[in-house]
Amino acid sequence: MTAERTTGTGTVSGDRHDTMTQVSTLQTLMLGDYYGTVSMADVKAAGDIGLGTFDAFDGEMVMVDGVVWQAKGDGSVVEAADDLTTPFCCVTPFETDETIELGDVTSMDALKETLSARVQDVNPNAMWAVRIDGTFASVTARSEPAQSEPYRPLQDVMENEQVLFDPATDVSGTLVGIYFPDYLGNVNTAGWHFHFVSDDRSYGGHVMAVDCSGLVAQLDKTDRLGMVLPEDCHFDSLELMSDLESAIANVEGGE
Ligand SMILES: [Zn+2]
Repeated sequence: MTAERTTGTGTVSGDRHDTMTQVSTLQTLMLGDYYGTVSMADVKAAGDIGLGTFDAFDGEMVMVDGVVWQAKGDGSVVEAADDLTTPFCCVTPFETDETIELGDVTSMDALKETLSARVQDVNPNAMWAVRIDGTFASVTARSEPAQSEPYRPLQDVMENEQVLFDPATDVSGTLVGIYFPDYLGNVNTAGWHFHFVSDDRSYGGHVMAVDCSGLVAQLDKTDRLGMVLPEDCHFDSLELMSDLESAIANVEGGE
């Protein structure tokens, strides 16, 4: 039997709305290249939702509705200035392709499982952004203080300097998640990665635990990847062949 051959409709000149823009690579960050190369003004031109970090690893970045928030190691959240640079982030213009009624979500694993079930159904080999808005029973975030040179590998920084904040309870805000497929695991975190910022912009960071009920997840599938490699001398000489899988798992944390 001969199966009907289907042909695609892809173009290489396509729509920026389906593009995930990735600055640098996770492997580069893991190795300690925290030199910011791309400005927030530039990042904002590539999308309105995303996550990452800042020059010198000065806190966790979460972009919501086109505004970039910097959740710093001292627990403060400030709007990032347009001339602040990033060594690592990913952003996309958000469009809702899928929605999921979440029910009771009492752990990160439960959240990831629910989102992944839909991604598996639609396209686990694409990249996805998700946003969940509303009041969360509890969110636990972490950040870290700015690093000084000589920069150490990320795993070393997180083991020694990660600041785990007290949980925020009954907190209104936005959880932003990004999904990369396994085959891009050295480019960004394989699977899900979440950051949070509260509506009153008093709490935020990389999410380690979550508890929420009755919220809706909006998902945006993207099938284009725009990579921006760092234009700095540090990147040029990095050995990017090493297997960092276990180090990445340690740094991402969350239960
Ligand atoms: Zn993070």
